This record gives sequence, structure tokens and C-alpha cells, in this order.
Amino acid sequence: MLYSSTIFDMPFQQIFPGVYEFANGIVNNWLIADDDGWTLIDTGYPNKEQTILDALAAFGKKPNDIKRILLTHAHPDHVGGYAALKQVTGAPAWIHPLDAQVVRGAIPLPRVTPSPGLLPWLLFNALNRQMPNAIPRAEIENEIADGERLPIGGGLRVIHTPGHSAGHCAFLLERDGNLLFAADACANVLGLGPSIVYADHAQGRASLRKLAALNFDTVCFGHGKALHGANAKKFNAKWK
Ligand SMILES: [Zn+2]
Ligand SMILES: [Zn+2]
Repeated sequence: MLYSSTIFDMPFQQIFPGVYEFANGIVNNWLIADDDGWTLIDTGYPNKEQTILDALAAFGKKPNDIKRILLTHAHPDHVGGYAALKQVTGAPAWIHPLDAQVVRGAIPLPRVTPSPGLLPWLLFNALNRQMPNAIPRAEIENEIADGERLPIGGGLRVIHTPGHSAGHCAFLLERDGNLLFAADACANVLGLGPSIVYADHAQGRASLRKLAALNFDTVCFGHGKALHGANAKKFNAKWK
């Protein structure tokens, strides 16, 4: 039985049937299990790819068990490891075209500004200024569109949620009560709140209202712990 309770001792924690979360430093990566192979969602910082490979090994997975790489958006903490992981896994990638341009090196990393308030400003200064200002370039094979249903995990709906970045996408896994990958549309670091930075704050708020209209009973984030059940419903109430 694949989903034994021993899985909870592994670096990848099961947060939903067939979905595993791995805290790679301050950013989360996810694995979705399918019969034909595994999908890795997001790839961590540049030069941290070995952390993911080690976690995969501890989880009993080899690099070539990863058949697809899905990217929520082109920030260094989410796609920094992509070029290196692509080399060792050979996996093709999916990302929104507006952020694909950044990964391909066609445009530079767009500028972001902190959310209102002292805490986002302090975190922005502490974290974001240490963020690499470029991403290792790599090929992107597949561009995704809002509303598209990817044949991953039993059906993964693409929800284009611009604001944090122009091509930022959330994903809704449509089974078992639904799991929302909110990624960096918002964060759950010191409680549920906005992300530290957005490229376009008004667009980011509109995207959160779009997500709040969805039904799900688990929601996970690029930063912070997943919420389940009644706690996940707080997401809908907060951003409606
Ligand atoms: Zn981000
Ligand atoms: Zn992030």
C-alpha cells in the first residue's frame, strides 16, 4: 500500500490523497502521484535542487520517477532549481506563457513591491533583497491557460491568478473534496495573509477573490502550512 502511515516520517508529507508537500527551506514543493509517474510542482531556489533529490530519495523515488514539472510562477524560490532538475529528470515543464518568458530568459524578472504594512516591508527587506535577481534559463515545453484541465492527479484545473506575478497560476485538484494549490497568491506564514510582494497589488486582490469563489477542503501555499477542513474554509471567508 503506497499511502502507509510511515509516509509521515518522510520529508514529503501527505497533505491530500496522493499529494505530498516538502518544505524546501522557506518554500514548499509538491509531488502528485499518478500511475504513469509523478508530477513535481515547483523546484525551489537555484542550487537547492540536491535538497529535493535527497528528499525524493528518502521518499523512495529516483529522479526519473518525475515525469512532469509544473511551475506556479517564475520567481527564483519556485523555478530556481528547474534548469538543474530538468537535466537530471528529463521531465518536460508546464507554466503560464507570461512567466514562461522569464524562465526562457526572454524578459528579466519583473519588479515586485511589498504589501502594505510594516511586517511585509521588513520581510521584503530581509528576504527579497537576498533573492537571486535572475533565474537559470531553461526550455519550457508546455504553456498553460486559465480554465484548462491538466490530466494530472485525476484532473488539475489551471486558475490564472495574476498579481504576485503576471503569469502566476493556482491549481485546483478536482477530487476528494478538492485541493487548492494557492501557491503565492497569498501565504500562511504568520497566519493567512497576503504574500509579502506583488507585481500588481490590485490584480493580486482580484485573483484572491477568484480563488475564494472556489470549493475546496484543503488549501496549500508556497509559504506556510496547508489548511484543512474548517480552517481551509477561512480562506473563502477572508478573500471573498
Ligand atoms: Zn513568488
Ligand atoms: Zn514564493
